[in-house]
Amino acid sequence: THSRATGAHGGAIGLNGIKKWFGTFQAVDDVTLDIRSNEFFTLLGPSGCGKTTLLRMIAGFELPTEGSLTLDGAEISSLLPNQRPVNTVFQNYALFPHLTVAENIGFGLKMLGRPKAETAAVVADMLKLVHLEGRGDDPVTQLSGGQQQRVALARALAPRPKVLLLDEPLSALDLKLRKSMQIELKRLQAETGITFIFVTHDQEEALTMSDRIAVMSSGKVRQVGTAREIYDRPADRFVADFIGETNFLEATVERVEAGRAVLRLPSGATLTAGLPDGLSPSGKVSFVIRPEHAGLVAAGSGTIDGTLGNVVYFGTDTHYHVHLDDGATFIVRRQNARAGASGGPEAGQRVGILFGEDAAQILRD
Ligand code: ATP
Repeated sequence: THSRATGAHGGAIGLNGIKKWFGTFQAVDDVTLDIRSNEFFTLLGPSGCGKTTLLRMIAGFELPTEGSLTLDGAEISSLLPNQRPVNTVFQNYALFPHLTVAENIGFGLKMLGRPKAETAAVVADMLKLVHLEGRGDDPVTQLSGGQQQRVALARALAPRPKVLLLDEPLSALDLKLRKSMQIELKRLQAETGITFIFVTHDQEEALTMSDRIAVMSSGKVRQVGTAREIYDRPADRFVADFIGETNFLEATVERVEAGRAVLRLPSGATLTAGLPDGLSPSGKVSFVIRPEHAGLVAAGSGTIDGTLGNVVYFGTDTHYHVHLDDGATFIVRRQNARAGASGGPEAGQRVGILFGEDAAQILRD
């Protein structure tokens, strides 16, 4: 593999009780994370939640107000940015327009005073890695946006950092290019073995690329887990709402057994629901069901009944908006059958919604 060829290894980053104040404003509120060696780790959250500030502290551009920051177990808070084996790729690429592709990629190595022959060999390696062989002598301004982003990646990878920080690196690209660069980034991480810490506010991007994701809001980490854990078992309302579409419902806890809660709906129907770690609820609780984890059945034969409202066709699937008797709307998503297949219930009809087994997940408030 490439990682063996380059001798690179991914660093493990430890954040311990990190707090960051700007004057009287707290941008990061007691963040503790263990980012593993070789991991594709994503910080996901809305604008202003503190993702970039966290990344800048790992890079050394900002100092934490409180807390400790380690690389492979050793404290690095007192190291200057250029003393850390950490590099950053920015959204705007920040390439040097008057230099060639190869000069851009070799820039960091030249600054480090590496011998010319070594730099040339690394640059050739990097051109191959990002699939830009033969473009080394081109002015960087002659490249497309996607190609320039590859050059920015190659430049950041060339000094073989142990950790690569990526701050919304794909947000300037159009959707199609973005999708192909997502796959490209995943490949680069796997081939180099370098730990990637990726910042995005795009939940789909986070779900498709990451080994693990930390979901943030208001300077706090709300949940850490794989895409599947975060999607299927969101810990709280913020995470459930931020990641994908979901239905919020309320019920009363009858009892808790074998790590699941037995719930009674206002309609009298009962179901079991999963619990966030360490939660033992009683009384009224909120729970979620994803639109694809419920199906439409005949009225009276599901978990809950309602009246079908809008039916929205999306090509690969159809969304059925069901108005429940308490006034809430429940969305059921169904994959479309082959073209031309007809059927499905129509607006105005009474329908039942059948919850899939294990579909319900209770939320922390
Ligand atoms: P975005 O996706 O918009 O970049 P973010 O999640 O990366 O958002 P940060 O850039 O980390 O958020 O900013 C977090 C909060 O800290 C914001 O409210 C921002 O205004 C504030 N902030 C960031 N840097 C400074 C600074 N140097 N001085 C004062 N406030 C700052």
